Amino acid sequence: MNHFQYVNGALFAEDVAIAAIAERVGTPFYCYSTATLTRHYTVFRDALAAAGLDATVCFACKANPNMAVIRTLAELGAGADVVSEGEMRQALAAGVPPGRIVFSGVGKTRHELELAVAKGILQINVESEPELELLSEIAAARGIRMPISLRVNPDVDAGTHAKITTGKKENKFGIEWTRAREVYARANALPGIDVVGVACHIGSQLTELEPFRDAFIRVRDLVAMLRADGVNIRRLDLGGGLGVPYDQEIPPEPKAYAEVIRATLGDLGCRIIVEPGRLLVGNAGILVSRIIYVKEGSTRTFVIVDAAMNDLMRPALYEAHHAIFPVTEPAAGAARIEVDVVGPVCETGDTFAKQRSLPPMRAGELLAFGTAGAYGAAMSSTYNTRPLVPEVMVKGAEFAVVRDRPSYEEMRALESLPAWFKS
Ligand SMILES: *Cc1c(COP(=O)(O)O)cnc(C)c1O
Repeated sequence: MNHFQYVNGALFAEDVAIAAIAERVGTPFYCYSTATLTRHYTVFRDALAAAGLDATVCFACKANPNMAVIRTLAELGAGADVVSEGEMRQALAAGVPPGRIVFSGVGKTRHELELAVAKGILQINVESEPELELLSEIAAARGIRMPISLRVNPDVDAGTHAKITTGKKENKFGIEWTRAREVYARANALPGIDVVGVACHIGSQLTELEPFRDAFIRVRDLVAMLRADGVNIRRLDLGGGLGVPYDQEIPPEPKAYAEVIRATLGDLGCRIIVEPGRLLVGNAGILVSRIIYVKEGSTRTFVIVDAAMNDLMRPALYEAHHAIFPVTEPAAGAARIEVDVVGPVCETGDTFAKQRSLPPMRAGELLAFGTAGAYGAAMSSTYNTRPLVPEVMVKGAEFAVVRDRPSYEEMRALESLPAWFKS
């Protein structure tokens, strides 16, 4: 459920007309709904609580690192899962307490680990032995033991798109399942390391519970083994990955997901950490674009819009589906035609939808891409020297630009011509 609805024939975000925002900020732009974010977070948190779990929800900031988004969730009590120094700084700046930040990722640099230790974050999810050694050295030099979980790779098939599967042994993530026990023993002996838990994250946009169940059962077995080895496991970080409906898929309800956690891990006396990204923000955002031209080809009609693959990369990257709807509601029973919706970028991959059934639309009209709040703005680039598009946050009848469109001068500000070009 989200708060992007037609009201008297016009698309609204909560109580604000999308056309009014377009008038003010120009197109394209991302628009986020506070009420939708709030709803997704509270439904998820409440489902975990109802299952009797002592759970901390750490929003995976990579899905949408906008400060206003992180702040909205932080004020509801969310922590943050970060994967870079930039995200850590962003989460801290948005008001997430260090004690609710977990740091994941296969390639954390020395500098990033030092910063995480200095900030006193909740835990680092370590993904390799060299990282473990380096972290121990850094923490020991400061006279502390850094709380860590080892991210284990449970070698389960998440049944999702190959580019977002992370829990198979051929993926780069985590410590191979079969070696986990040995690496834990090593971690437990290091002076700068406090082993607190097990972490796993098997992929993104999962639409079935079975892969989660399989992974959690493996985690359970591992916990039993580690405890028998004398490792004091007291936290389980179960990653993110619960899917959202983009098209026809029907992902599991948070309640059912929480129930799988309870059934597999609920009796271990562990604090549970979960790292949802897409689930919290996906449906809380849309991308609004204006039609530049409608081009009639001999075999197809192309609707050419002012948003492009650099603004919303998912269709080009994952062949992802996004709902597309006109900002002015089509009349009931209006005719529909099949069109290709494309952007202006010089790549054939710059195609948002092929042969999509839409009401006939004209140049100048606005349309919206649904479920664009996750991995939308976050993955955007300036390809074709297109400015990053603004992000707008709506709350009730108010809206605010929470990231501005840069000017071309600002885009160029970090560039300079070498001195050998004489003026
Ligand atoms: C990407 C990622 C997440 C969030 O995944 P979603 O599918 O957006 O929920 C959580 N944890 C880790 C370690 C990740 O890399």
